[in-house]
Amino acid sequence: MASGEKTLTVVALGGNAILKPGQEGTARQQIENVNETMRQIGKMVLSDTYKIVVSHGNGPQVGNLMLQNEIAKEEVPSHPLDVCGAESQGFIGYMLSQSLDNVFNQNGRGDIPVATVLTQTLIDEDDPAFEDPSKPVGPFYTEEAAERLREEKDYDMIEDAGRGYRRVVPSPEPLAIVEKEPIRQLLAAHTVVIAAGGGGIPVVREGDKLLGREAVIDKDLASEQLAEDVGAKVLLILTDVESVYLNYNEPDQKPIDRMTVDEANDYIEQGHFARGSMKPKVEAGIKFVESGGKKAVITSLDKVFEALDGETGTTITK
Ligand code: ADP
Ligand code: MG
Repeated sequence: MASGEKTLTVVALGGNAILKPGQEGTARQQIENVNETMRQIGKMVLSDTYKIVVSHGNGPQVGNLMLQNEIAKEEVPSHPLDVCGAESQGFIGYMLSQSLDNVFNQNGRGDIPVATVLTQTLIDEDDPAFEDPSKPVGPFYTEEAAERLREEKDYDMIEDAGRGYRRVVPSPEPLAIVEKEPIRQLLAAHTVVIAAGGGGIPVVREGDKLLGREAVIDKDLASEQLAEDVGAKVLLILTDVESVYLNYNEPDQKPIDRMTVDEANDYIEQGHFARGSMKPKVEAGIKFVESGGKKAVITSLDKVFEALDGETGTTITK
């Protein structure tokens, strides 16, 4: 099939694509998970039906980097959150791109180029999220340690469900992907691109300068922004559930096969989707189809092909 006919698709990988619940996060564990993930993504590319941009989360990875910084701070200067985000994009991008390259080579298609783009995501300095830091990041602390961080570093700290204290940072809206032009150029050159890891590094524009900010952009919303910026037709959000459900985790839970924007907004209002997990995925799907995308699909990695054919998973259309 000619490349012009391929469906440009942004595939947003959930946390379980890189690290499974309960795993401690060794490099080996992550590489093994990534290999399983990329075999499936590789199949999509090799089917010659999709042109793909991959995005991914970085929660546990950036948390570990922050913990390393915290433990080593007397010996090595610690890095701010935006720099830790860049570090996590670097190593996760390395694993994803190498793994996908290997899949192509094993299938006699070593000619397909793969590249990771270190990505910054533009946010607004005046985003209301800066008045209400809500996203927990990094390690758990004791009450005394939390108090010290409040005083010494001006961190916002909250008590997290009886498990200890954690830093919270703002979670602003993504406005644009800074590297969208180079990403488009790579796609035009038939490269599989990995971008916007962890929602991208949050940056603000001050006059003629970009400046990093200590914040976390939701990876589903950033993936949606990326999809808009590259003109994708499909936004595919892969997570650890096969479908989006009504009455999730209740006896009468029911998978949603299809929903329109209006239906999705009603379900959000009725409180069916949890804040910070399923809600941003549905919101991303709504925004994507409202901005001209053909459909958004939410499903699990092993159901990708069935879900793209509408046989399972949840499809959002206008
Ligand atoms: P990811 O790393 O893929 O973004 P999240 O944990 O953020 O994963 O989001 C997926 C989770 O959303 C599921 O594991 C599920 O527990 C939760 N969830 C909340 N509400 C719903 C719902 N209505 N339908 C399906 N899953 C839901
Ligand atoms: Mg999530």
